[in-house]
Amino acid sequence: MSTLKLSQVTVPAIGVGTWNIGEDPTKHSDEVKAIRTAIDAGATVIDTAEMYGQGRAEKITAEALAPYSREKLFLIDKVLPENASHAKLEISLDRSLRLMQTDYFDLYLLHWRGTVPLVETVEELTKMQDKGKIRYWGVSNFDTDDIKELWSLPNGKNCLANENLYNLDERGIEYNLLPLMHQVGMPLIAYSPLSQGDTISGKLTDHPLINELAHNHHVTVYQIMLAWTIRNHHTLAIPKAASPVHAKENVEALDISFTADELEALAKAFPKPTTKQPLATI
Ligand code: NDP
Repeated sequence: MSTLKLSQVTVPAIGVGTWNIGEDPTKHSDEVKAIRTAIDAGATVIDTAEMYGQGRAEKITAEALAPYSREKLFLIDKVLPENASHAKLEISLDRSLRLMQTDYFDLYLLHWRGTVPLVETVEELTKMQDKGKIRYWGVSNFDTDDIKELWSLPNGKNCLANENLYNLDERGIEYNLLPLMHQVGMPLIAYSPLSQGDTISGKLTDHPLINELAHNHHVTVYQIMLAWTIRNHHTLAIPKAASPVHAKENVEALDISFTADELEALAKAFPKPTTKQPLATI
């Protein structure tokens, strides 16, 4: 099983995303079941945010997690940029903790950069860490210059991880952001690792090479996409699945590994960038 280290904690390299859950009441029981199925299959990391359904995703996630022992889970939540200030961050954090029915998050991320000075957000995150409300903090949607600026600030180097868009079709961050993060061993949390299901373009799911690999490994094209994303032990992928069947398949992708030839073929079909790309976000 593929794992990675988030500071001192070793976690399976595939976790659970929760964006868009809680939007359709008819899906509620499947959404709860899907999260539980993923945990039963071995996932321990759950990614949510105050933004998702304005707290509805956190509420459903908490319901799904209720039967599990808190210490076995690694919970990630995110603060909106407009709430990442001295005046508001702790209020947001307390609200998310209440909705998630826990007294700490393992990792608390700034969802993206806004107008609150970064130095103020880092001060506040550090305070929350000192109070024991979060174990670690990190960022999301930060590009190379943002990370360099962060590292220049007091305590800025305590940032644990950066959560960014990353999948076979979105390799832009491999040009200079990932190499910079790798210099200090900062893991990537890859969001939308399935290209949001790839249902619109079919660029990945219809691709002959991905289909051939899926056939050879006796897995689905989605599992191939996930296994590629986590191939280097620096990346945690957080696919979202409202379907319990999908949730199980996603965690099972932890056991897929590629030969050097397969990786080379994928790199040829989906080349990494040779110039700096604007940071892709959703
Ligand atoms: P994903 O790439 O995870 O794709 C989710 C879609 O793929 C859903 O439609 C889901 O269907 C489908 N799917 C999941 N597993 C399978 C499978 N095994 N077979 C077939 N289809 C499958 O998209 P997200 O954008 O949701 O990204 C994942 C998570 O990343 C989010 O939920 C969120 O936690 C995080 N995120 C963070 C962002 C940030 O700014 N920090 C931005 C965007 C996402 P179904 O639900 O029906 O199972």
